[in-house]
Amino acid sequence: MLTTLKRIVQEMSQIPALDEALFNVASRVKQVMQVDSCSIYLADYDNQEFILKATDGLHPDAVEQVRIGFSEGLIGLVGQREEPLNIEDAHRHPRFKHYPEVHEENYKAFLGTPIIHQRKVLGVITMQQAKMRFFSEDEEAFLVTLAAQLALEISNAEIRGALSSNDILPSTLHQKKVMGIAGSPGLAIGHGFSTDSTVDLRRFVVKRTDDRSQEVQRYRKAVEITREQVDELSNSLEEGIPDDVKAIFQLYHHLLDANSLGREVEAKIQEQWCAGSSLKMVVEDYAARFANMDDPYMQERAIDIVDLSNRILVNILHQARGERPQVTLADKASILVAEEVSATMLAEFPREHLKGIISIRGSNNSHAAILARAMGIPAVMGCQNVSPTLLENKEILLDGYSGEIIIGADNAIRQSFVQLIEEEALLAEQIASEANKACETEDGCRMSLLINAGLSVEIETVARNQGKGIGLYRTEIPFMLRESFPSEKEQIKLYSEVLRCVPEQQVTMRTLDVGGDKPLPYFPINEENPFLGWRGVRLTLDHPEIFLVQIRAMLKASLGLSNLQIMLPMISSVNEVQEASRLIEQAFFEVSEEIKDTGETLVRPRIGVMLEVPSVLYLLPQLARHVDFFSVGSNDLTQYLLAVDRNNTRVAALYNSYHPAVLSALYDIVRQSDAHKIPVTVCGEIAGEPGGAILLLGMGYRRLSMNAHNIGKINWVIRNVNLKESKNLLACALTAQTHQEVYAHINDYLEQKGLGGLIRAGS
Ligand code: PEP
Ligand code: MG
Repeated sequence: MLTTLKRIVQEMSQIPALDEALFNVASRVKQVMQVDSCSIYLADYDNQEFILKATDGLHPDAVEQVRIGFSEGLIGLVGQREEPLNIEDAHRHPRFKHYPEVHEENYKAFLGTPIIHQRKVLGVITMQQAKMRFFSEDEEAFLVTLAAQLALEISNAEIRGALSSNDILPSTLHQKKVMGIAGSPGLAIGHGFSTDSTVDLRRFVVKRTDDRSQEVQRYRKAVEITREQVDELSNSLEEGIPDDVKAIFQLYHHLLDANSLGREVEAKIQEQWCAGSSLKMVVEDYAARFANMDDPYMQERAIDIVDLSNRILVNILHQARGERPQVTLADKASILVAEEVSATMLAEFPREHLKGIISIRGSNNSHAAILARAMGIPAVMGCQNVSPTLLENKEILLDGYSGEIIIGADNAIRQSFVQLIEEEALLAEQIASEANKACETEDGCRMSLLINAGLSVEIETVARNQGKGIGLYRTEIPFMLRESFPSEKEQIKLYSEVLRCVPEQQVTMRTLDVGGDKPLPYFPINEENPFLGWRGVRLTLDHPEIFLVQIRAMLKASLGLSNLQIMLPMISSVNEVQEASRLIEQAFFEVSEEIKDTGETLVRPRIGVMLEVPSVLYLLPQLARHVDFFSVGSNDLTQYLLAVDRNNTRVAALYNSYHPAVLSALYDIVRQSDAHKIPVTVCGEIAGEPGGAILLLGMGYRRLSMNAHNIGKINWVIRNVNLKESKNLLACALTAQTHQEVYAHINDYLEQKGLGGLIRAGS
């Protein structure tokens, strides 16, 4: 059943015209489910009707002719109830309405399922049979599963231009607008550039090679990695998986065997084709043979072979450094589109052509979004209703304020977008011209703005130019970009550059915070709940050898300076602080011993903790006895306080740092920290947002750390507001019912102060 379903959906996505694709679905369903009719209706919201778009079983002339009101007949009922309707004898149902054109007099049994995308009914799919009977649970489950997948394909169809002009779909789709999650503010125009689509065997451009033995090695290594991945996948599936799924894995293993695909691929490499090209040639030949077989089961194997080969191809390309197509192909203003945008992808993309980012997965506080904001590149996250390949090479207008993307916009919209980009640039110029003025409110309250660094090299340069301290140096990115843990020497070099960049200012270096959504390629962690698992200090305390090397490197890098502060991430209990402090003390002692005859001086660093796990809210008095400073990680604090995965698109609407509960927690932290005389900074994303900075000012925070791109903007905001008003705004926010209400208060205030242009396009 699973493979049949997969095949039907894949076939649909490959047929360019929607009418034809829907007809294919209807007839394949009729055939495999052995029913007398299958039909698909799509919703026309303008006229409040369902239109018969495809059928195999009803009269073909009724297609496009039969229109059923949203509140009429059984189709209308399925749409209204938004759930399947399984009826033994449709004619006897009180809602049955006779439409003579369809000739369904002989059909008694009826099963209808709504096609729903993002809570909106796009249509209805039905199966009908002459015999009077209820459809079985399996048949119902099949239709529901198929409908869910059809919904995605139908919404994609508009974007890939598959709908003919008289196709009717909800107006949001007609406008070729897709809504994602605002990931990084700003507007951008560029052509879609999909890194994922390049890793597709069908699109891979064949190349020759001179180095046959290297290509053979590359292929073998890729197969080895793929085998491990396939093993992992099959092990992760529970016992009792259906036979057809087992068969896929057996086939995968058979194909990965050196005597199967391998022999032929290596023979091609000997003919001087590179590994990827050889794989493509062999696999396409196989796939064509399978696809032409009469037996539908064997036909389905063609899809599996291509699927497996794409996995191998990805692993070949990952080894072939510098051979990644995206590096060479992006040669014009581009919007990078990927399933999941990674730090490596951004690092490799030619910066001058990178205008915007679309990540199909992820959310506003995924590290990819944080990275985009740090680079000052507009981004939209969680764009689940499009696939990267569909955006390839299409002109895209991207609005990082609202999270909207527009594909193939008409001239008028394009023009107004260009104008908004110009206005945005003007505002940025104005802000930049005042960037060096003191960060002080209208009524004289001073704020310290610090920099969040570590995500890109540029930032260190900005810190140097602006003479700002570094409130958070994330050390994990250099670990993620390497192929093994960096050595002590490598780390000393790195940290030394950062510390020496602003020798007069404090630099807060955070110890390694991997795990969660920041995996190390060479240290895989497989967990069901990574954000609640082996992350941050939990991992490094379990691996003192990694922790100690990092601390020693930080200490050695700080020789002759006195600006190092060490910060511990993901602290949830006092024990962890004690344990980490003991290791820091050990490293301090070791380094002091090593340098004792050199005449160099080693200053004991101040030690602080991130406040990002809710338990520490109730431990502040105890923690205050052990540390020198606190820094609030509002990104994780929001995630853990609200129990919302910061990286999960499905619950993205629930993740919000302006939730009144989060604001209360932030307020509580600053009051308690002040009471215990412990300096406190906010280094989560809220600190770099205009509304957030004003609320934090009102709460009593005087140190905010943010990505370098936001410094000028927040400086401008602080200079244009006053403390008294920020306290009033805070009072409204703390008593608000919802985060939407908080936003409304903030927006009113910003508009009133003439700062509206900072939170939306144009002003
Ligand atoms: C945070 O959680 O707010 C934080 C600053 O750390 P990160 O985003 O790196 O988890
Ligand atoms: Mg964090």
